[in-house]
Amino acid sequence: MTQGLFDLKGRRILITGSSRGIGLALARGLGQAGGSIILNGRDPKALGEAARALAAEGIDVTEAGFDVTDPHALDAAVEELESRVGPIEVLVNNAGINRRFPATEVTPETFREVQAVNVEAVFFMAQACARRMLKRGHGKIVNIASVQSELGRATITPYAASKGAVRTMTRSLCAEWAKGGVQVNAIAPGYFATELTKVLVEDEAFTDWLCKRVPAGRWGKVEELVGAAVFLSSAASDFVNGHLLYVDGGMTAVV
Ligand code: NDP
Repeated sequence: MTQGLFDLKGRRILITGSSRGIGLALARGLGQAGGSIILNGRDPKALGEAARALAAEGIDVTEAGFDVTDPHALDAAVEELESRVGPIEVLVNNAGINRRFPATEVTPETFREVQAVNVEAVFFMAQACARRMLKRGHGKIVNIASVQSELGRATITPYAASKGAVRTMTRSLCAEWAKGGVQVNAIAPGYFATELTKVLVEDEAFTDWLCKRVPAGRWGKVEELVGAAVFLSSAASDFVNGHLLYVDGGMTAVV
């Protein structure tokens, strides 16, 4: 009975930015827990390869290649997707980018580019899915925030600002949609080795600093985010709402 709480069988789950990195690891983990996975990303080749890999592992997977940064197109994209595969029960808002510059050198274009993916798209994807979830009376949205939702760091101010916005957006949407049966929560990862953090992983001085700063003493592995995602996508979290779940090796708990 307890195990059933985490069962995702029959749940259709759309994960934005899931052709690699954290998104792909979540797709695999949520698929292994029984979810029917919808993969998203812009590069059709990477998306196709990821979909084939998951399908070969026995996961029920559908491709939905679109750019999340056109807010006017997202409602139609979700409409098309639902008419093709059926209702989306869980949205994981994972697509995200970072642009590292000293704050004095950030251009308006760069600042807006980061907000377009990390903030605007998170809101308008949530809006498009929630319009339909609210009509059905249930649904779950899991936003991928960051330890940068809470902590600052030099050279990533546009990114930190965007992830801070994800934190309060998560709480605000909970305030509006909880009574309609929709839970909006977030996972806040610490530092995980992916394409996004490749330059940092390869920077010995940074890695030395990180391993001293994080109580766990190491980079996170993307699979270590799966448990939190299964929890927030399943019946186990039906009364959890507006919550940020840190998966950070203890980073935000200590100075
Ligand atoms: P990656 O760069 O490895 O993967 C990003 C994914 O998003 C790719 O599949 C990419 O595919 C897709 N993507 C990017 N832009 C768009 C877009 N406009 N429309 C649709 N898809 C898009 O990043 P991570 O896996 O590391 O990060 C995933 C999330 O986790 C992000 O929100 C990030 O901020 C967050 N995070 C990551 C941490 C880390 O340490 N790695 C720590 C904390 C949070 P394509 O380019 O083909 O579109």
